[in-house]
Amino acid sequence: MRGFALAATLVLACTAHETRAEWFEDTQAIMGTRVHAELWHDDPAVARRLLEAVMTEMRRIDHTYSTHREDSELSALNRAAPHGWVEVSAEMIDLLSRSRRMSELSGGAFDVTYASVGRYYDYRAGRRPDDETVRKAVEAIDYRHVEIDADGRRVRYRHPAVYVDLGGIAKGYAVDRAIGLLQSAAITHAAVSAGGDSRILGDRFGEPWTVGVRDPRHEGQVSVLLPLVDTAVSTSGDYERYFDEDGVRYHHIIDPDTGRSARSSWSVTIVGPDATLTDGLSTSVFVLGPERGMALIDRLPGVDAIIIDSDGKLHYSADLQPLAEPAR
Ligand code: AMP
Ligand code: MG
Repeated sequence: MRGFALAATLVLACTAHETRAEWFEDTQAIMGTRVHAELWHDDPAVARRLLEAVMTEMRRIDHTYSTHREDSELSALNRAAPHGWVEVSAEMIDLLSRSRRMSELSGGAFDVTYASVGRYYDYRAGRRPDDETVRKAVEAIDYRHVEIDADGRRVRYRHPAVYVDLGGIAKGYAVDRAIGLLQSAAITHAAVSAGGDSRILGDRFGEPWTVGVRDPRHEGQVSVLLPLVDTAVSTSGDYERYFDEDGVRYHHIIDPDTGRSARSSWSVTIVGPDATLTDGLSTSVFVLGPERGMALIDRLPGVDAIIIDSDGKLHYSADLQPLAEPAR
């Protein structure tokens, strides 16, 4: 179970107020994952319109930043930027700049150029690059190869084999955009999730929302339940996109130093103020592993983590320990 354990139980029919407000929700397959949004409103027509606007925004972000689409802005950038400056949108500058800050914060564990090697994995087909391909392509992994001219709104790559993928931050960003849209429509109780990235607005009428951290080795089971209010939460796990070969798991979170799947965690859950941050941090801490990852989280005020290491042991950041309840 991922994201919200709660969706099905949240259809409250009426309120303590005079109005006939209720929960409205929608779930769609976007960005290669399950996008879910729910909100509390007293006007069904307005609620439906807002949910549609959320899904439209999610689709826009997918169309702009997917590397699976030849016609996305990111694919155009990947084709042209190894050869020189490319004009990009202000939003692309913003996303690449945020990614760069996450790289600096994580000492390079988060690196959107991971895809210079990552592009050679096909998890569905069970294909991975051979050692020689990894050895060569790993040289192109370095976030400093992506030169951002924010004033000139242009980008170039400083190495010919650089390939950028924003998969480590785009879902969180999309969730934040959706929440921003709901906030500007004066919504005060809502939840939006895209795969493992979620954000909650408000509470459930005096009660916290309950978010389950999935058991990384038993599908359908939950390791920890987190009561949360007005916050973002992201989980990165090695069970999302992977294949097993000769007892080794090849999965989608790549250590930029080696070009191979990061090995020291099974899953990382981050709780923090916004989903772009928690998304980037969940990927970063996954790569860093329990010790260095928790040291990073301890330096960040208002951010917490649950790390399930590669022995299945749970590590909590200091503030989260009393909040989290074992699910079993
Ligand atoms: P998440 O589920 O948020 O951890 O994101 C995983 C996705 O992030 C992968 O599917 C890749 O698209 C991307 N990714 C993998 N490794 C890295 C890395 N070291 N730095 C940044 N993004 C990465
Ligand atoms: Mg992430």
